[in-house]
Amino acid sequence: MSDSASSQAAPMMGYHESNSIAGVARVIRAEYVTPRVRRLTVTSDELAKLPEDLGWNRPFRAYFSTPGFYDQIYAPALQDDGMYADTFALEQEHAEVRAYTMRRLDIPARELDVDFVLHDDGVASKWAESAEEGSGFGFLISTMEMFTSGLPDVDCMLLIGDDTAIPHIANVLGALPEGFRAVALLEVTDEDDEQPLGSDGDVTVQWIHRQDQPAGASRQLQEAVRSLVWPQGTVHAYVAAERGAVGDIRGYLRDERGFVRRKGEVFGHAGPHDADVGKSTYEVQPYWRLGTTTTDEVRAGQADMGKMMEKFKAVMDAGGDPMDVLDEEMFA
Ligand SMILES: Cc1cc2nc3c(=O)[nH]c(=O)nc-3n(C[C@H](O)[C@H](O)[C@H](O)COP(=O)(O)OP(=O)(O)OC[C@H]3O[C@@H](n4cnc5c(N)ncnc54)[C@H](O)[C@@H]3O)c2cc1C
Repeated sequence: MSDSASSQAAPMMGYHESNSIAGVARVIRAEYVTPRVRRLTVTSDELAKLPEDLGWNRPFRAYFSTPGFYDQIYAPALQDDGMYADTFALEQEHAEVRAYTMRRLDIPARELDVDFVLHDDGVASKWAESAEEGSGFGFLISTMEMFTSGLPDVDCMLLIGDDTAIPHIANVLGALPEGFRAVALLEVTDEDDEQPLGSDGDVTVQWIHRQDQPAGASRQLQEAVRSLVWPQGTVHAYVAAERGAVGDIRGYLRDERGFVRRKGEVFGHAGPHDADVGKSTYEVQPYWRLGTTTTDEVRAGQADMGKMMEKFKAVMDAGGDPMDVLDEEMFA
């Protein structure tokens, strides 16, 4: 590896004031998209600081308090070093961090729609179910490019997810150019949870009903992928759902269908983009994990951060793509 590559300036990572905003978002409207999905429109003056061309394809961190503490709203604080600190969510028993998707972002109007899947046992879900005008949560939004992926250069998009991924997948479908081929396999409880998905693309949506089986326990999504009449040409698959389902589908795509992980530019490190050309690719994201919470995972991740950074460095020094490390670790 050349010196210039190995001595690349260390990329700025993390939630810095130059690449993030944080604040408290308050509910201004609420509606049920389906019986188990509540859309909350929230507002914050901080949203006006986002770049106009930010794009829609972006998750963010939201901070909730456990029931009984809803009047205590935590928002990441800016430290002297210009970094936002959200350690409170890891240190306090009643502050929790979760990831959500911007279903709609209107920067001039300072409005953000978030579609919350309501399930039996979640801090965020319970908060969203009882939220009313003025209810709030803390947020941290990064403007870093690593959270945005453009339209892949393939013949067809394959979008696979459960209800939690529908906000993202709906946004992807909504942005497809006219006639672009896409197949979506979406798992929900039953037909009451199907929702209209607008697109200019040539889209086929297959709804999968888990019926009485609990979310995360059904194998129907995995089976639907295996029995799909496979699209012609190259395919880019986006997969987001419970971790076990995502890991299984990733294994199938990679080992039995020959897909490769979609490379990108991450942590300032340019991956071997050309390697993707002409191939079918996958991009996977475990959105939740049975029996655990995001706060628990972030805590565990922080504890292992040192080891992870060493692995990233070793791979980068060898000219590899650090995201290969994450791709393996996510399902280890
Ligand atoms: C990048 C990203 C974007 C996301 N976008 C959205 C979004 O727009 N809308 C959305 O609703 N979710 C979204 N999620 C998923 C959401 O963050 C998780 O479902 C989260 O665990 C919900 O938090 P909670 O406090 O309600 O439940 P938690 O307190 O985290 O979990 C409590 C228990 O419920 C289980 N559980 C968690 N989620 C579900 C579920 N959906 N169904 C059934 N059981 C569950 C857990 O395994 C745990 O045992 C996203 C996740 C990621 C990583």
